[in-house]
Amino acid sequence: PATRRWLFADQLGPHFLDGPHQPVLLIESRDVFTRGRFHRRKAHLILSALRHRAAELGDQCVFVRTGTYREGLAECGERVSVCDPTSYPARRFVRRLPDVEVLASRGFVVSERQFAEWTARRGEGRLLMEDFYRDVRRHHRLLMDGSGPVGGTWNYDHDNREAPPRRESLDVAEPFWPTEDEIDEEVRADLDRWERDGDVRFTGTDGPRRFAVTRREALSGLRRFLSERLEQFGVYEDAMLAGDPWMAHSLLSVPQNLGLLDPLEVARRAEEFGREHDVRLASVEGFVRQVVGWRSYTWHLYWHLGREYKRRNALGARNTLPDWFADLDADAVQANCLRHVLGGVRDEGWVHHIPRLMVLGNWALQRGYRPDELADWFWRNFVDGYDWVMTTNVVGMSQHADHGVLATKPYASGGAYIDRMSDFCGGCRYDPKVRVGEDACPFTAGYWNFLAGHREELAGNRRMTRALSGLDRLRDLDGVLHQEAERGDGPP
Ligand code: SF4
Repeated sequence: PATRRWLFADQLGPHFLDGPHQPVLLIESRDVFTRGRFHRRKAHLILSALRHRAAELGDQCVFVRTGTYREGLAECGERVSVCDPTSYPARRFVRRLPDVEVLASRGFVVSERQFAEWTARRGEGRLLMEDFYRDVRRHHRLLMDGSGPVGGTWNYDHDNREAPPRRESLDVAEPFWPTEDEIDEEVRADLDRWERDGDVRFTGTDGPRRFAVTRREALSGLRRFLSERLEQFGVYEDAMLAGDPWMAHSLLSVPQNLGLLDPLEVARRAEEFGREHDVRLASVEGFVRQVVGWRSYTWHLYWHLGREYKRRNALGARNTLPDWFADLDADAVQANCLRHVLGGVRDEGWVHHIPRLMVLGNWALQRGYRPDELADWFWRNFVDGYDWVMTTNVVGMSQHADHGVLATKPYASGGAYIDRMSDFCGGCRYDPKVRVGEDACPFTAGYWNFLAGHREELAGNRRMTRALSGLDRLRDLDGVLHQEAERGDGPP
């Protein structure tokens, strides 16, 4: 018989087993939640997913609820195999264990060996996401027409950058919302008790479970997204609406990162559905790009760039996260965009990729928050966050702390960008066009302050030339710098 397979809580789908009847070990470790503060909803999702999987597997599974993984393994008492886990500390840990066979990782569109071969073929050249994505599509024959892309274009990004419509919400069918059951009730009671006993401290607020934690729920979520929401997904993919945080996003990052859905299966179904139902190609391509492109690319770069990558700090950002930010205290914030987005993190543990990048990340970049601390904050507070997801996304993409390995320029912007891509500014006490004084938008002032503070590091970057010459023309720069120097680290 096959060796018992130990599954971590982000390896819960059928593709992590060698066959449908393979014996399984699941360990629920309470100690994981005592190492730093996690969002309460994230803890709920992980525990609910594990317990649901254990219930589904029944006698096929040994399910141990204990303090540490070591205790869980001892209680099981059998030799086990495990698919390589998803973080550096977890990999180091499993390699030191006796009686544990470590297999290659699973759950991504190309293996780590294939990615290593791909990078070797590229030699010294840059590892561009666009090249990786095209090769993945060729390799798996996704959205292909002969040897070229369906529709004649690989990338429809330019069709997917519309400003939001002038309405409060997108007017799209509701996402799939799961129905809670007695397992969720039990999880909630346990989390309440752990908090009461002082064993763990969470961030964020509790509320009805929004994301799929079983394979069945994940497939329902996928079907719902494809049939009711995919068409509208792409157009407003980069826009933000204060009254509609979900817009047409798939909400599938949680079940994908729990390992419940195989990304290739998700992409193939999107392609198939799009073809059969004549869905707008730019939306299908935009979604497939996120799933098999960006998601896989960040995963592989996490390993390729090495453990020390997380400590990179090319812009010398030294500020520790202030309490109001770390504790998700949105009520303390007056800046409407940040208040809404931080409130979304507090209430749901989720906002979509643009508020993450252009509001939270942009704010942190301007204020010089430490990239490694910020990456940890993101993975602990987002329901779909993991070290592998957030390290490359935050340190590289968002904070430019790798000096351009991942992104060719820093994602810093003033209030004008937020004003164009959202409806936040209309309801704000600040004015995105104003740089100095009572009404000065903290993002606009912060943007110029950021550019002035990093002029030398950014000077060699051709994509920053226009921004820096804008800085040179700013007549009130001294006023901006003075005002920003006076601003403490309190909420804006
Ligand atoms: Fe945000 Fe500035 Fe717009 Fe207010 S004015 S919502 S602070 S960008």
